[in-house]
Amino acid sequence: MKVDYIVVGLGLAGLAFIEELIAAKKTFIVFEDDSQTSSLVAGGVYNPVILKRFTPVWNAQEQLKVALPFYKKIEKRLNIIVDEKLVIKKAFKSIEDQNNWFDALDKPKLIGYLDPKLDSQTYKGVIADFSFGNVNKTGRIDTKKLVESYRNNLKERELIRFENFEYQQINFENEFIKYKDVEASRVVFCEGFGITDNPYFKHLPLNEAKGELLTIHAPELNINFLLKSTLFVLPLGNNYYKVGATFNWVDKTSNPSEEGKEELVEKLKKVINVDYTIVSQSAGIRPTVAGRRPLVGVHPKHTQLIVLNGLGTRGVMIAPTVARNLFNHLEKGEKLDKEIDIKRFY
Ligand SMILES: Cc1cc2nc3c(=O)[nH]c(=O)nc-3n(C[C@H](O)[C@H](O)[C@H](O)COP(=O)(O)OP(=O)(O)OC[C@H]3O[C@@H](n4cnc5c(N)ncnc54)[C@H](O)[C@@H]3O)c2cc1C
Repeated sequence: MKVDYIVVGLGLAGLAFIEELIAAKKTFIVFEDDSQTSSLVAGGVYNPVILKRFTPVWNAQEQLKVALPFYKKIEKRLNIIVDEKLVIKKAFKSIEDQNNWFDALDKPKLIGYLDPKLDSQTYKGVIADFSFGNVNKTGRIDTKKLVESYRNNLKERELIRFENFEYQQINFENEFIKYKDVEASRVVFCEGFGITDNPYFKHLPLNEAKGELLTIHAPELNINFLLKSTLFVLPLGNNYYKVGATFNWVDKTSNPSEEGKEELVEKLKKVINVDYTIVSQSAGIRPTVAGRRPLVGVHPKHTQLIVLNGLGTRGVMIAPTVARNLFNHLEKGEKLDKEIDIKRFY
């Protein structure tokens, strides 16, 4: 079998790169071994504001301009709905917190997102002593639905193999590589935390950050906005909510832990004061990088090998833009954004 590209990993990164391949009518085959879960468990929130400091997220406006039509296009093609517009309500912790919000209103990159009028309504079950600030034009991608539907579609078209990609089976020929029965011009590695097993790229500085979430059922909580307090509380409908997330820099497994659950339950006491039951718990490893810029580019020696990783805590917004930049770099000679290029580590 002869293809233009092998893509290893079908999370948000792999999916975004494949969209470029489909648009350009390139041939490809995907390998996916279910070893990582980040894109399946993610909250999926897109929000251009860092709500701890009220500062803009790196390139957020530019990224959203690409990302929103990107998800719309997939929704149409796969006949699914994954993009849900939601207002984020930030529950202020103090008067100082409120003042910082007002100070941030004039930041050019935040205009249109931070609402100047505070919301001092009370919402049954929500603990908030200092009102809320609304962040507009934000929302959530149902990443589980997106990734699963995408994988199913590729499966129907026999474009994905659910198996581990074995790095030692790569044979380098002049301009291409051979991998088992496949001959490909390039291999694009989109493995998330799985990169740590990849002998060609594992030296790149990925600081994995495990995150855990709970799904709860709270019959007396009736909110249709995304509550940002000590934790995120994300409405799923019918009084179900996703609650998260933890940050753990030590545990490198994707297994839900008792420790993670206890931390979330403890923090949730400061966020809501109604009864709830825990329906499920999930975990994944965010592929984060010190400096918060992705890891994208071409292997310095084996130019057939490419990496697309390091999407960190904001894969939903970042993936479409960096995948497009990478594709245009490989196929059209466009410059790779210096900030994301792995050359910065050579
Ligand atoms: C708890 C939690 C909450 C989050 N919330 C948000 C949020 O609200 N908004 C947001 O934007 N981001 C969020 N994120 C971050 C987001 O999930 C990541 O940025 C993004 O999913 C990373 O995508 P990826 O494709 O690079 O990696 P992954 O999703 O890890 O995908 C990599 C894929 O490669 C496969 N793979 C790896 N090695 C191999 C191999 N050798 N052979 C075959 N297949 C292989 C894995 O099985 C996996 O499917 C969250 C993450 C977590 C854990």
